[in-house]
Amino acid sequence: MVTRHKERELELDDKRYVWHPFTQMKDYVQERPLLIERGEGSFLWDIYGNKYLDGISSLWVTVHGHHREEIDQAIIDQVKRVSHSTLLGLSHPPAVELARKLVEITPMGLNKVFYSDSGSTAVEIALKIAFQYWLQKSNGSSSKTKFISLTNAYHGDTVGAVSVGGIDLFHEIYHPLLFESIKGESPYCYRCVFGKTHPSCNLECLGQVKEVVEQNHSQTAALIIEPMVQGAAGMLVSPPGYLKGIRKLCTRYDVLMIADEVAVGFGRTGKMFACEHEDVEPDILTLGKGITGGYLPLAATMATDEIYNAFLGKYDEFKTFLHGHTYTGNPLACTAALASLDIFDNDRTVVRLREKIDFLRTGLERFRDLENVGDIRQKGFMVGIELVSDRDSKEPFPPGEKIGVKVIMEARRRGVIIRPLGDVIVLMPSLSIGLEDLDELLNVTFDSIRLVTES
Ligand SMILES: *Cc1c(COP(=O)(O)O)cnc(C)c1O
Repeated sequence: MVTRHKERELELDDKRYVWHPFTQMKDYVQERPLLIERGEGSFLWDIYGNKYLDGISSLWVTVHGHHREEIDQAIIDQVKRVSHSTLLGLSHPPAVELARKLVEITPMGLNKVFYSDSGSTAVEIALKIAFQYWLQKSNGSSSKTKFISLTNAYHGDTVGAVSVGGIDLFHEIYHPLLFESIKGESPYCYRCVFGKTHPSCNLECLGQVKEVVEQNHSQTAALIIEPMVQGAAGMLVSPPGYLKGIRKLCTRYDVLMIADEVAVGFGRTGKMFACEHEDVEPDILTLGKGITGGYLPLAATMATDEIYNAFLGKYDEFKTFLHGHTYTGNPLACTAALASLDIFDNDRTVVRLREKIDFLRTGLERFRDLENVGDIRQKGFMVGIELVSDRDSKEPFPPGEKIGVKVIMEARRRGVIIRPLGDVIVLMPSLSIGLEDLDELLNVTFDSIRLVTES
């Protein structure tokens, strides 16, 4: 253990030197920082030895919990062989084995794997591949250069990914930097822009997307969607038929479908991949977050043979996909991903999740009794609890009240780490969490919401 003096110094230097992501540093430096030193299963310990339940899988990544022996060992074994070797013109066994496995487990037709190192880069790659595909397929004459994306979409923070984003709070300020994307209406049933209710709405949002696709398909390279759940927007769950409808539209109008499963992939929604809920086979698939079980940065963009083939040609035809990050397909990261996929098989993670999903659903029922809980959304192990100042009018809290932040700070005092998306309280525990710990997560969240909103 470090000495008390050392701990104080770490806290001070954190405020002095570290610029934290998505964090108003003026507020951050007012509070005592929480420095995590160790993790085990669903728990984290800070530098003082205080224990916390990790209710968000360390930002949606630790699928099997922290410190999994099998993944630890696989990485250690790989370190002893080689820690990095490039994929630019060379290859290595973990990259090959992982690609083979990903092709095997993802929806049909996705036979090629392009590695990178974050969800955002996976999305950039998907967009560039889609754009270049149409150009090369048409010998340069294609007018299919634009993208359709959805309202409330989140696809990452790099400039291309922001261009297809739809969350004003994150994206508006960068508007002058972005390329144009055409917006289709996503389903946010609780705040339906058409003022309708599912299922009597007949998916009017999908109807609007149909119009957008009809009008723009000749100039559209691809449509990008977060299948089943729009995560960063506050866990907006698509009603049945929406995703399938999008697939049909893309097929009918010859627009590539990019499924961004960076958040929803790897068991999160109760299926290995969210597209499986509606038997959808996208043309391009992006993976990240949980891919390495939360151990190392890795992402993948997968494509069909047809797309891949459009990039083949003589060297001086210049059809090569000229893209690659330095750490693309890092061997340690690929090894961690393989070990994580082995755990899925050995633990039958997705099958065993069913009982926990039901437990979570039942446990969330009583949250409806809380006066300021407007909506509870759940798909598998993704939960968003939307807080409102008035339930009848669905009026949000004034942003200055920072109601979401207050709730998660209250939970932290009670030993639970969660993180809000605005006024939406997110629960995203590890798929490996036990029922008792899941119960604790629910109880602390319930008490924290009640205490903050009813005081
Ligand atoms: C988190 C996320 C991304 C971006 O991934 P990073 O690894 O943070 O760059 C992209 N798409 C979706 C759907 C995400 O949830």
